[in-house]
Amino acid sequence: MSNPETTQGKAAPELSEARKVYIKTYGCQMNVYDSERMADILAAEGYKSAETPEDADLVLLNTCHIREKAAEKVYSEIGRLRALKARARGDGRAMKIAVAGCVAQAEGAEILKRAQSVDVVVGPQSYHRLPALLKAGKRAVETEFPAESKFDHMPEPGFRNMRLPGDRPQPLLQQQAGLPRHAAAFLTVQEGCDKFCTFCVVPYTRGAEFSRPVARIVEEAEALAARGVKDVMLLGQNVNAYHGAGPAAGAWPLARLLARLSEISGIERLRYTTSHPRDMSDDLIAAHRDLPKLMPYLHLPAQSGSDRILALMNRRHDRNFYLRLVERLRRARPDLALSGDFIVGFPGETEADFSATLDLVRAVGYAQAYSFKYSPRPGTPAAGEAQVPDAVKAERLQRLQALLDEGQAAFNAKMLGREFDLLLEKPGKRPGQLVGRSPWLQAVHVDAPESLIGAMVKVAVDRIGSNSLFGALVDPPRAVA
Ligand code: SAM
Ligand code: SF4
Repeated sequence: MSNPETTQGKAAPELSEARKVYIKTYGCQMNVYDSERMADILAAEGYKSAETPEDADLVLLNTCHIREKAAEKVYSEIGRLRALKARARGDGRAMKIAVAGCVAQAEGAEILKRAQSVDVVVGPQSYHRLPALLKAGKRAVETEFPAESKFDHMPEPGFRNMRLPGDRPQPLLQQQAGLPRHAAAFLTVQEGCDKFCTFCVVPYTRGAEFSRPVARIVEEAEALAARGVKDVMLLGQNVNAYHGAGPAAGAWPLARLLARLSEISGIERLRYTTSHPRDMSDDLIAAHRDLPKLMPYLHLPAQSGSDRILALMNRRHDRNFYLRLVERLRRARPDLALSGDFIVGFPGETEADFSATLDLVRAVGYAQAYSFKYSPRPGTPAAGEAQVPDAVKAERLQRLQALLDEGQAAFNAKMLGREFDLLLEKPGKRPGQLVGRSPWLQAVHVDAPESLIGAMVKVAVDRIGSNSLFGALVDPPRAVA
């Protein structure tokens, strides 16, 4: 019996006329942004969006490698797609499978070897090569860090009207394609990282730090504003290390970029993520005081509260530095909501180290935070160290998450009775309900007509839910044209 999906060594069949792509996204906001840009690139090549993988001529998995079993999850997803591909072939259709993102970068040609059904493997810095790789008709891998930037090869944002049906574990401000207005959008300004924390794969999968030029970012933000986007989240693995070429000579820091973007009419809210504590410069702290459009929310990962562990992690900051930084930020912007990331069970972490993390969490009072069990990533320095037993990691994670949940509940409880501006983004769970984001990034549900999607409205909070707030419109709201 012939193996229907073996294409190695042979030219793969040509794509059918009406090509449709299904993109499944794993991981962080950066990957959501990348998926949108790949959708733009493919739309420029005539691709439409497929509602399901069954309906697609191309299934693109945009993968994440940050935590354990990432590659295994991708291989089992490919296994499921293999059956679809065989079925499509039985129906006389040529379906392709492409793997992009950080697993593609880390595994490279191994994916083609292990998964015969995969046609193209493309790393995060080579997305612009996707159409050429697909057209070449051969199985291919592209995981170089090319000299030219992928950003120079992207079509205009807004070209596409494509649905991205992928996984979104942290959707935050992700806009829902297909709605009448897009209220919020991501904009990548920086990529890669030179910090080399000993647990992290990012410097290896995303490469060295790179900042996009100011002019290109301004152009993209203006295009988003023209499409009705009001809330822009600037993205970067280490976004506050931004130092993009300015319009004249010299590089601009993030604070100056934020000031320039806040001059764009239509953009009413700005945020940025993810920041490293070491790169919170004085001018960036001052921007939180001086720029009304910069929202009072900052994701500032600490990872641990123990100086010993922070040193082993190569974080380049200690507990005191972090706490002093938080104080300075809160002096600049007293209502600032802080969010963070924590790793428990890093190699060598003792109960005393973990207690120091719990203390730090209590001292800061996070509005919300993400926490993870340490997961050894192949090729990173900490992966070779003696590991904390999984049961210990699991127990610590549970205690940390209980404390973080308490903090989040306390932060949300303070919102009861408060009035603030809410940017309505999409329909809620029940008819007649819309959901928007508060200035502090909380989801807020209100009863409001769909015509108000994309509008900034005044809301009064009348109930606190477990993960979100509920409120009522205050002023007679204005519908968006
Ligand atoms: N650049 C950001 C910073 O410095 O905080 C973080 C980027 S990373 C994509 C997001 C989060 O994943 C990290 O803050 C860290 O908490 C977590 N993470 C990264 N590597 C990890 C690992 N090996 N095990 C567990 N969590 C990890
Ligand atoms: Fe990874 Fe962030 Fe450390 Fe860079 S700063 S190595 S992205 S955790």
